[in-house]
Amino acid sequence: MVGGGPGGLTFARVLHRHDHPVTVLERDPAPDARPPGGTLDLHEKLGQLALEKAGLLAEFQALSRPEGQAMRILDTDGTVLRDWPARPDDQAHPEIDRGQLRDLLLGPLDVQWGRDVTEVVPETEDGVLVRFADGRQEAFDLVIGADGAWSRVRPAVSPATPHYTGITAVETSLDDVDTRHPDLARLIGDGSLAVYGVNRAIVAQRNSGGHVKAYAQFRAPLDWHTNLERHMGLIGHADLDLADVEAVRSGLPALFDGWAAPVLDLLRHGTAFVHRPLYVLPVSHTWTHVPGVTLLGDAAHLMPPLGAGANLAMLEGAELAESVAAASGPGDLDEAVRAFEEQMWARAGRWAKITTAGLERLVSPDPAEAIALFDEVQPA
Ligand SMILES: Cc1cc2nc3c(=O)[nH]c(=O)nc-3n(C[C@H](O)[C@H](O)[C@H](O)COP(=O)(O)OP(=O)(O)OC[C@H]3O[C@@H](n4cnc5c(N)ncnc54)[C@H](O)[C@@H]3O)c2cc1C
Repeated sequence: MVGGGPGGLTFARVLHRHDHPVTVLERDPAPDARPPGGTLDLHEKLGQLALEKAGLLAEFQALSRPEGQAMRILDTDGTVLRDWPARPDDQAHPEIDRGQLRDLLLGPLDVQWGRDVTEVVPETEDGVLVRFADGRQEAFDLVIGADGAWSRVRPAVSPATPHYTGITAVETSLDDVDTRHPDLARLIGDGSLAVYGVNRAIVAQRNSGGHVKAYAQFRAPLDWHTNLERHMGLIGHADLDLADVEAVRSGLPALFDGWAAPVLDLLRHGTAFVHRPLYVLPVSHTWTHVPGVTLLGDAAHLMPPLGAGANLAMLEGAELAESVAAASGPGDLDEAVRAFEEQMWARAGRWAKITTAGLERLVSPDPAEAIALFDEVQPA
């Protein structure tokens, strides 16, 4: 297994449950080497089903936040347009911090940290060859690429590469909101807050421990920050140095001119800013089966971040692990991987269509489209 994200760790954890050997090769030098990112909502029939297969559903239920399913939409002037409170007993898609999920999945697993895979060569005399950045190489029977958007395993099966959607996000974090920014804490509530304008959105999500992640999302060319006047029509604004926290904190609100002050405070109180242009793989990405190598999760079907990616990665990890554990020999294993790929492609293709259409409506020239989308999916 290459990659110790939600998909790779779920695969390894389910195999571990079946007493089947597995090697997890992860590029990060340690579990907490990078900030883990925002909260994830795990759906009953996707991520939670995967955790059930890993024997971890009860522990998830103890850690997760059903109240995080609350959703509020504001107009750009701050008027509340929609307010869906969470029902505490609703287990449809509770939220969990990524760090908590990672630690839950890691449990007894023996991950090889600091193993940076550079290339995978299928069908050699020794099996599938995995090459590493430090010059070493090792052979395996089956190599699974769960190494995310910029997968180094993917070229062994497919020439596809991610392309830019035309929509960028800048992510920021607020700490200790209940004490330091009580007005914002009340505005956000227990779950998520979203504000939709013309080709713009600001979304804030509560994580555990008083942490909030806020995302400024907008349509822009990839190099938007190199000349705000030319690319974003902001007269008198030159370039924005994305590495300069102070410059981003004071410059980003200019993209949301006229929006209510409390909404912009989500950006003005941000402690760090991460530029996340949204990339996707082609919808319904498939490949000709290559014995000994497969992909799952973002490596196979990177799609807009609308609450499906981690869920799919985890369910695929769990399903593939069950198939691998049940296989009785090399031929049987190859058939099991083929069948897994067919099932993954069909389901991921459906979600890629849904999330691609969803992103177009959420960051849209007509903000009413975003609200209509929520009206369609939120319980009445
Ligand atoms: C802002 C945002 C919000 C999101 N919210 C949600 C949500 O609410 N619900 C949801 O389901 N999804 C959400 N997603 C999508 C979700 O984050 C991804 O789909 C999910 O993380 C994919 O899991 P994965 O295991 O396939 O890959 P990743 O999480 O990308 O994990 C890949 C792992 O592989 C490792 N790796 C990479 N390259 C190498 C290499 N060469 N050698 C060894 N290791 C390597 C990486 O370090 C990483 O640990 C969101 C995404 C974003 C950007």
